[in-house]
Formats: sequence, structure tokens, C-alpha cells
Amino acid sequence: MSIKDNLSVLLKEIPENVKLVAVSKTKPIEDILEAYNAGQNIFGENKAQEMIAKQPQLPENIHWHFIGHMQTNKVKHIAPFVALIEAVDSLKLLKEISKQANKINRVIDCLLQFHIATEETKFGLDFDEAKEILDNPEFKIMKNIRITGVMGMATFTDNTELIRKEFRTLKDYFYKLKENYFSDKDYFKEISMGMSGDYKIAIEEGSTIVRIGSIIFGART
Ligand SMILES: *Cc1c(COP(=O)(O)O)cnc(C)c1O
Repeated sequence: MSIKDNLSVLLKEIPENVKLVAVSKTKPIEDILEAYNAGQNIFGENKAQEMIAKQPQLPENIHWHFIGHMQTNKVKHIAPFVALIEAVDSLKLLKEISKQANKINRVIDCLLQFHIATEETKFGLDFDEAKEILDNPEFKIMKNIRITGVMGMATFTDNTELIRKEFRTLKDYFYKLKENYFSDKDYFKEISMGMSGDYKIAIEEGSTIVRIGSIIFGART
């Protein structure tokens, strides 16, 4: 099936209030354009170099989500155009994003990434680390970032009960943060969870953003 067909089949499974990020990492410009021409306009990349290389070659109204681990020295290159940095996992990174956004008069939206999987290798915060960031006086004075929600990746497994449990943990973190830090902030509303293998469970558990690559573009080599 074509990318366009893959997208239209997939979109039938995704409720209208859930945003679809088409994860285009490793895929060429032509593939992204095919998805764009079929109506998709949010794309996700996990390497700064790759995103920086692709962005100028593609339509300006694409919303770029950075979904990977961000190195602080790369922030200045994506700050001018990135729509959402999905995987913030330190105060140091937030400070750099705020600093670079300030230089160009932007407010950059970010999600806090939580470690919800059993795998050791996945990045992300635990709940106490997130609280430390949000309680830090340095965070409170940052004017050029906005935390709009949370993000997480479930364990790569076919144990659907484990995946569901991990997504519930993330949702629980979201509601706790909402109550304690963002109760008066309407913009704090996103729960980014769900990939090709587990997006249906994620949607059942309250995802507002799914990040899907393989189903749309085919397997990565
Ligand atoms: C690659 C990636 C995805 C998409 O993975 P698929 O299984 O191809 O849908 C989603 N989120 C993150 C953070 C990724 O790195």
C-alpha cells in the first residue's frame, strides 16, 4: 500500500481529538511529501541533524515535533522552527531551550518525558525528578518555555497488560502534575503515548498524541 493509503487506513483508527505525529526518522523527503500531500502536517524526528536537514526542504507550515533525546548543543539549531520538543528530561535542557527561545523571541512548547518502561535504556524522568524540576526556582522564572504535558514510551513487548499498566502510570503522572502545578493552565493538556505497536492501547488509556512511523512509512532498515 502507498503512504497515502496507509495514512487513510490509520486515521480511521484514531479519534479526532487525538493528534497524529507521523514519525519520519530515516525516511526520505519524498516520503514525507507524500504524507503531507495526503493531508498530514505533523512530523516527528528523533535526531537534530536529520530534522535540521529536512526542514528547509519541506513546506513551512509543517509542525515539527522533536521526539528524541535532545543534546543541549543542538537546541539552538531547531529552536527557530520546532513546534514541540517532546522529550525533555532535565532542568539543564529546559534552561537551554528557554535561553535559545528567548534570543529569537519565541515560547517553545515542551513535554516532560517520563521513564515508564521496564527497560533500563529508555530516557526519562521519574515522578520525583519531575517535581524537583517544577519546584526549582530557576524553572519558575523561565519565560520562553511552556510545559504542555507529558510523554512516555512503553516497554517493547507483546505483553499488552504491561503496556497498559505503563500507560496508566503516565496518565496518573499527568493528572498529578495537572493538579499540583498546572491546574489553572489550559495549555497543560497533552499525554503523548502510543507508537505503531501499541497506539490502540494508548488511545484507550487516554493518549492525546500518538507518534507513529512504521505503519505509515513502512519498516525502517
Ligand atoms: C521511532 C519512534 C516512534 C515511532 O515508532 P514506530 O514503531 O515506527 O511507530 C515513536 N516515538 C519515538 C520516541 C520514536 O523514537
